[in-house]
Amino acid sequence: MGVSPGVVIGPAYLLMPESVCVVRHKISKDAVYGDIERFEDALIETRQQIKELQSNLEQNATVQEASILDAHLMALDDHVFVGNVIKKIEAQTNVEAAVSEVLESYAKILSSVDDEYLSERSADVRDVARRMINNLTKATDASVLDLRHKHVVIARDLSPSETAGMRKDMVIGFATEVGSPTSHSAVMARALEIPAVVCLHDVSKIVEPGDEVLIDGNKGFFIINPTPEQMEKYGRVEKARKTIERGLVTLQHKPAETTDGYRITLSANTEGLQEVDAVLRHGAEGVGLFRSEYLYLAAKGCIDEESQTAVYTQVAERLSPAPVIIRTMDIGGDKMLDGPHFERESNPFLGCRSIRLSLLYPKPFKIQLRSILRASVHGNVKLMYPMISNINEIIQANEILEEAKRELAAEKVPFKKDIEVGIMVEIPAAVMTADVLAQHVDFFSIGTNDLIQYTLAVDRVNERVAYLYEPTHPAVLKLIKQTVDAGHKHGIWVGLCGEMAADPMLVSLLLGLGIDELSVSPAAVPMIKDSIRSVSFVQAKELAEKSLKCQTGDEVLGLCRKLTNKVAPELMEIM
Ligand code: PEP
Ligand code: MG
Repeated sequence: MGVSPGVVIGPAYLLMPESVCVVRHKISKDAVYGDIERFEDALIETRQQIKELQSNLEQNATVQEASILDAHLMALDDHVFVGNVIKKIEAQTNVEAAVSEVLESYAKILSSVDDEYLSERSADVRDVARRMINNLTKATDASVLDLRHKHVVIARDLSPSETAGMRKDMVIGFATEVGSPTSHSAVMARALEIPAVVCLHDVSKIVEPGDEVLIDGNKGFFIINPTPEQMEKYGRVEKARKTIERGLVTLQHKPAETTDGYRITLSANTEGLQEVDAVLRHGAEGVGLFRSEYLYLAAKGCIDEESQTAVYTQVAERLSPAPVIIRTMDIGGDKMLDGPHFERESNPFLGCRSIRLSLLYPKPFKIQLRSILRASVHGNVKLMYPMISNINEIIQANEILEEAKRELAAEKVPFKKDIEVGIMVEIPAAVMTADVLAQHVDFFSIGTNDLIQYTLAVDRVNERVAYLYEPTHPAVLKLIKQTVDAGHKHGIWVGLCGEMAADPMLVSLLLGLGIDELSVSPAAVPMIKDSIRSVSFVQAKELAEKSLKCQTGDEVLGLCRKLTNKVAPELMEIM
């Protein structure tokens, strides 16, 4: 699955949680001697560790178990192994890659032998390799955040903070074995504009460190060691995509308006200060969703009031008079933290996540609310609570908000007294009671990423059920319509900030369902604006009416595709 657009080609960097990172690069002639010395030191250290393990086993288990480690020691003492690694280093391969490649070639030979005992020894060789490289990398401290050469990162999974910390100039793309378009590593990839593909089962077992790999984040292709013809073809595809994107730049200051003059607000989703430039550059009309939890993820815990206030103030000031909707922290689900306030749960998407966590720990929550209030006088700041499932949560959160206001007033700290407060509608229960909830808030923003997972009972990050994750499922459409109708009935606007809003093929459908605002990643803004400006409101309404009568998600998708093909064929090319 392609989850972040763009085509890139580069050497693979394998990041495996239980193993070690091995990056292959050419070392200078002067560095050869140093790497050989490091190899010899690592051999001594590794031997020492294995001997310690052996004596521990002899004391606590049997001599037979301890003797298993003899095979590990034998591998280390093998002069052919030592000689081959040194030969590679002398040919200017870095020591980590030299060790990994030589041992991996032995492991492969062993595992292909038709003898159970010998083929099982391949696991021993890999174990030794892991231990050696661990000892080597400890000294060099290799990490995905510390890449010194451009690479495509391959991992089983990436945490949001790992993705958030990636340097765009070094990580040119990434591929993961698990994940989905709405997992937060995918969200971050789009925010950072790093091409990415996910859902590539076993990719890390097939790719070798340093292999040349090609990623097509639009169509979801991943090619190992591409041929010159493939490189040429994808080069052309990327060039065409860039040309279309350059054409869309002219839309920067144009409104998000249909051909018959129906206008909506087109905003951007952001995860931090670093994306504010992109919001303005891509022509969004403000921030529709500021995912404040990324500040917590970056800090690996709660943040003090001054630091939070400083970030919110800067965002508000730089975007003023455009609005910034700051969502209170949404930790939990696939955005986990360790620490006293955050516990690992067996069912985190249904657990103490988001507003539930905030209400459980009102002190840090009040600090966040005070920070948002303090920033509110520096621009057009609005506040939004995530994961609301009942009215009590709004009442409780607002009580803490009022307390924060009273404190600030007593301290003579300025804040916007009538700050607008909205909620995310992302749980079916909130939709079913939207009529009631609408009377307590100033706006709704539909979070389809979660709404779809909770409606269809499909874990949004589980690639095994990804085929069931259908934004066009009739149930989802009905829930969106019901939310819009309830909001409008009570005179409040209704936005949509899930990834569904960033699919150009679904934009007309959402317009037709009556959505007032769409919020997408900054890089997707031009394409979505182009979609809105290509269609008439009459066509959009007709599409929505027909879609609401469909029996399957595929039928709806077919109708959406047909209309997009008709009104914006250029967008179909890059999708
Ligand atoms: C959503 O659920 O649609 C949403 C925008 O919030 P998040 O992806 O951060 O859960
Ligand atoms: Mg959500």
